Formats: sequence, C-alpha cells, structure tokens
Amino acid sequence: SELAEEETVNHVKNLQSGEANIMVAVRVRPVSKAELKKELYPIVKVMDDKFITVQDPSTGPGDGEFATNQASGGVKEKQYAFDYVFDENTEQKTVFDKTTQILLDGVLDGYNATVFAYGATGAGKTYTMLGTPTEKGIFGNSFEELFTQMEDHSKDKEFKIKMSFIEIYNEMIFDLLLPNEKPLELREDATKGIHVAGISEIRAESTGEVLELLHLGNQNRSTEATDANNESSRSHALLLVTVEHKERNSGTEAEIKVGKFSLIDLAGSERASNTNNTGIRLVEGANINRSLLALGNCITLLYQNSEKKSKKYIPFRDSKLTRLLKDSLGGNSRTVMIANISPCNSVYEETSNTLKYASRAKNI
Ligand code: ADP
Ligand code: MG
Repeated sequence: SELAEEETVNHVKNLQSGEANIMVAVRVRPVSKAELKKELYPIVKVMDDKFITVQDPSTGPGDGEFATNQASGGVKEKQYAFDYVFDENTEQKTVFDKTTQILLDGVLDGYNATVFAYGATGAGKTYTMLGTPTEKGIFGNSFEELFTQMEDHSKDKEFKIKMSFIEIYNEMIFDLLLPNEKPLELREDATKGIHVAGISEIRAESTGEVLELLHLGNQNRSTEATDANNESSRSHALLLVTVEHKERNSGTEAEIKVGKFSLIDLAGSERASNTNNTGIRLVEGANINRSLLALGNCITLLYQNSEKKSKKYIPFRDSKLTRLLKDSLGGNSRTVMIANISPCNSVYEETSNTLKYASRAKNI
C-alpha cells in the first residue's frame, strides 16, 4: 500500500505538471439528520487523503458504528486508493482547490478541461458541483477563480467568457437556460467542432449573476419520482464554458485562443435494476447507463493512455454525452472525476458500485 500511495502522489504531481491528463477523487458526504433519526450509520471510513475503507454491513455486528476493533471480527471490508479522498468535513473550497483549480491555468491558456461529479442519487453530486446559495460548489468557485485571473492578466490579455447550461435526458439534449420542449441536435463542422445547434450562450460577467442563472436552470432539470427515490435525477447537467482570449498588443493579427471548460453533474448512477422500473423509466435507465457506461469506457482508456506509450482508440461515439465531450476529453485536455458517496449502511451496494467505477480506471 506504500507503493500505491507513491503512485497516486506521483499521479497528482503529473496532473499538475501536465504529464497526466486525468485525476480521480472521492468525496464522502455527512450522515444527514434524517438518516440519524432512522438509525442509519456510517460504513465508510476515510483513512487519510488517499485511502478509504468500506465495510459490508451484512457481515458486521450492525451495532450502529463503523467497526474498528478486532473483536468485531468477520467484518468484510475493502480498501480503495484514489488521487484524493475527501471526508465529510471537507469544505467546498478545499475540494475545488485540490481538484478543479489545477485545470484553470490551462483553460485560460486555451486548453480544454472537464470536471465530472459521479455517484448515486443523494450522494452529493449537485452539492459538489452547484452547491447551495450559501456554500457554492465547483461551478461558483471556478467562475470566481476565472474572473480573478482574468483581472490579474487584463493588462496584456483580453478575455471573454461565455456559458451554456444544458441537460442530456434520455439521450436528448435540452437547454436549461431557455427551456423548450424540443430537443437540440448535436452538430459537427470544421469551424465550431462538435457543438449543440441553437443552444443559448450567455456572456458571463460576475459569479453572483452566473450562480443565480445556474440555480434557476437546475430547477428545469428532468427529475422524476421512482420507487427508490422521491427525487431521483435522471438527467446529466452540463455547464459548458468557453474562455476566449487574445493578446492586447498584437494588433489586428491577434490570434483568438479558446479554452473549453465542461462541468458536469451526472445522472444518478444507481442501476435501473435497483428500482422497479417499467416502460419509460426502463428506457431512461438504459439510456443513463449507456452514457455512464460509455463515459466509464472512455475514462478507463484515457487513464491507460496517459500512463502508457501505446495509445488506444477511445469510443466517443457510443453516447450523446461522450460525443459532446469528444474534444474535451483526452488529447491535450485534462479531466477530473469526483465520485460522490453517502456514508450510510443503507446504500452499501451503490457506494461499492461507485468506488468500483471510480477505481476501475486505476486498477489496470
Ligand atoms: P445528488 O445530487 O448526488 O443526488 P445532493 O447533492 O442533492 O445529491 O445531496 C443530497 C443531500 O445531501 C442534499 O440535501 C445536500 O445538500 C446534502 N449534502 C450533500 N453533500 C454534502 C456535504 N458535503 N456537506 C453537507 N451536505 C451535503
Ligand atoms: Mg443532484
């Protein structure tokens, strides 16, 4: 495990220096008051900022605590290592600083980057990405940092930030800032690359203004009640930011550089089979899984490609999500995945699945 630690430390360094292009972090949310009332208890323990241990509650004493002493023998547990593990007390700003912050210099220089929040419904994805009006997440912290850096470089560079906010629901694309029944189409051409036709683009001027729009947009997401969850999010929400800049003193010949920054709150990863889905719910489940499966495949291969000399083909065309992100994953782009988990015994299965998905890329 010392070796594993050395490897993950190196990986973070490589990401910072630009040698690696993907990083995987895990965030554990706190047990909620409602969960405490129901006598749910944590089965997850963050060992340090790289390691996490999960216990199988069906093998333990089930006495309402993470079993730490040897006397509770027979408890089946599994340890996982990641580039970063954030415990339930980690603040929004810290999560941002250790993950997404690393990507922003590149974005301001005209490189592409992507941040994902992955995990089951209720695990903390939206909290991590959007946050609350008082505890802003990766979205707000990113804009704050982008605006600060633009200000710092405003003497010699001229910047323009634009954003769109869309959802992919059931393999259809909808505008969250300008809701419309009709889905939008993906297009690809030489000048624009891959893009969504007819999408609304807003010039971003201040963090406060942007966050207000995003909180409103988030309310337009497709959420449907299922048997397993009252408010299961069935859609992937994508905040697509473009940062353009040109040198001020280079006259009319100035080359405009564009960095694309994609921030994604993925649909709940719980399996279609975990809920009593039929009809449309079943189709949705298959489509959610299709995008998440395609994303997992792409990320695994990207991770492998970043470690190895021989580069493998990445199957971006397998879903809308991965098609849209084709030029924001791999190549010169950098990716951060934040896997969110609940600590509770009641969702052991989902937590294990999330950790497996997140570590799949690394256990080659
Ligand atoms: P998801 O988007 O994955 O379905 P949410 O982000 O909506 O999950 O989180 C579920 C609940 O837990 C929300 O009430 C949210 O505010 C709360 N929550 C999630 N993560 C944290 C955290 N790190 N600290 C405090 N509360 C959190
Ligand atoms: Mg959510």
